[in-house]
Amino acid sequence: MIPATSFAGKRVSLFGLGGSGIATAHALIAGGADILAWDDNPDSVAKAAAAGIATGDLRGADWSRFAAFVLSPGVPLTHPKPHWTVELARGAGVEGVGDIELFCRERIQRAPSSPFIAITGTNGKSTTTALTAHILKSAGRDTQMGGNIGRAIMTLDPPEPERHYAVECSSYQIDLAPSINPTAGILLNLTPDHLDRHGTMAHYSSIKERLVAGSDTAIIGVDDSWCAQIADRLERAGRQVIRISKRLPLTDGYFAEGTNLMEAVDGRYSRVAFLEGIGSLRGQHNAQNALAAIAACLRVGLELGEIQAGLESFPGLAHRMEQVGRKDHVLFVNDSKATNADAAAPALSSFNRIYWIAGGLPKEGGIEPLRGFFPRIAKAYLIGEAAPAFSATLGEAVPYEISGTLAAAVEHAAHDAASDTGGEAVVLLSPACASFDQFKNFEVRGEAFRQAATAIDGVKPIGGPR
Ligand code: ADP
Repeated sequence: MIPATSFAGKRVSLFGLGGSGIATAHALIAGGADILAWDDNPDSVAKAAAAGIATGDLRGADWSRFAAFVLSPGVPLTHPKPHWTVELARGAGVEGVGDIELFCRERIQRAPSSPFIAITGTNGKSTTTALTAHILKSAGRDTQMGGNIGRAIMTLDPPEPERHYAVECSSYQIDLAPSINPTAGILLNLTPDHLDRHGTMAHYSSIKERLVAGSDTAIIGVDDSWCAQIADRLERAGRQVIRISKRLPLTDGYFAEGTNLMEAVDGRYSRVAFLEGIGSLRGQHNAQNALAAIAACLRVGLELGEIQAGLESFPGLAHRMEQVGRKDHVLFVNDSKATNADAAAPALSSFNRIYWIAGGLPKEGGIEPLRGFFPRIAKAYLIGEAAPAFSATLGEAVPYEISGTLAAAVEHAAHDAASDTGGEAVVLLSPACASFDQFKNFEVRGEAFRQAATAIDGVKPIGGPR
């Protein structure tokens, strides 16, 4: 645990007592703050009180006595409207901060030179964070990973000069971290998302920009216009910017040419790494993730050989284009995390003969945005509530069946893929839907897929993240 000493001897209000809120409360107490914690959920308040955290309804508190207001990233700051605690804090002129901010202040106090890599973007954050941490660890560096992935940041080991941090940051977390100042900040990409919570794309983008604007080195994926503009703006302001592109040769920066990852210096190119044969990093989107991780690892002093070794041994993350099994030419891929059409697109673009299991609880827009990938789909196996709508979109363009359940879909898809003679055939669960109509969450759905796939006679499990 990292004791948060920046409010030692001061009174601090805290709202949000989920897992990370409790961890933050303990860190503040360990650092000597006098806190008063609350949550809208009485069960969470009771749990915190049982864990020795002082609780009390913040409506009746004297806000003029608080030096800071610490809140969980889930609590609305602006949209759809500010949470009642946010209004009380603003009314009293009390600064609102989150756990990433507490970490940044602690790092500056204890070990400002400790390599700190912060990662954000609309998609690929978890993969890039896990990959960066894996490369660092496999190169023998003392490495801590957390934030929006795995462990809450204040539960990590305290900053020391040689301790490396790979931290995933959601836009909500950046919004609560005004002094975020990583050694290398990564902004992967920006597409419209979470606009219910950020109002407009311009506002969402401005929050993400703060992470790279505060970085010693800003690593920015310039394949979308929002990020490209941010890179230009930071460069004009005299910041160190490293551009990456998953498709375009750059004059300076890092870009992908197929599975080769290239460095460009003044228009001269050299290969720095390659992804050929690395099952956990297939697809152009993973080239973007790998380029960002490489740029960050080089920035903190790793050698190319160490980086390539880390890429090759990366086990991947569960439920994200995760290869779970193989039988002869048939590969089984679990992409259960793809809960909308945009998230399913990378997997559909990564394979050529796809036996596609899709459906669940439909999202707005359905699978219409995926039409460009239909020629890659040998057959679709539709499950859950979305099946009728998806079948209407597929129409005459793609053969399909309404399988109903995931178990039936896996069985039928595996059977059909076995007789495919066109090379590698992929039974792909990339549902483009939420899971809640048939499963507790996307993880349970992905596990059900893994079990059904590996239970098929002759399917060899592929050792992955677990
Ligand atoms: P996040 O943490 O940002 O949600 P993940 O690494 O968990 O991202 O990946 C979630 C899904 O997003 C993956 O299954 C994949 O389909 C897609 N994805 C991953 N990396 C990228 C990327 N760089 N660009 C676009 N989509 C991506």
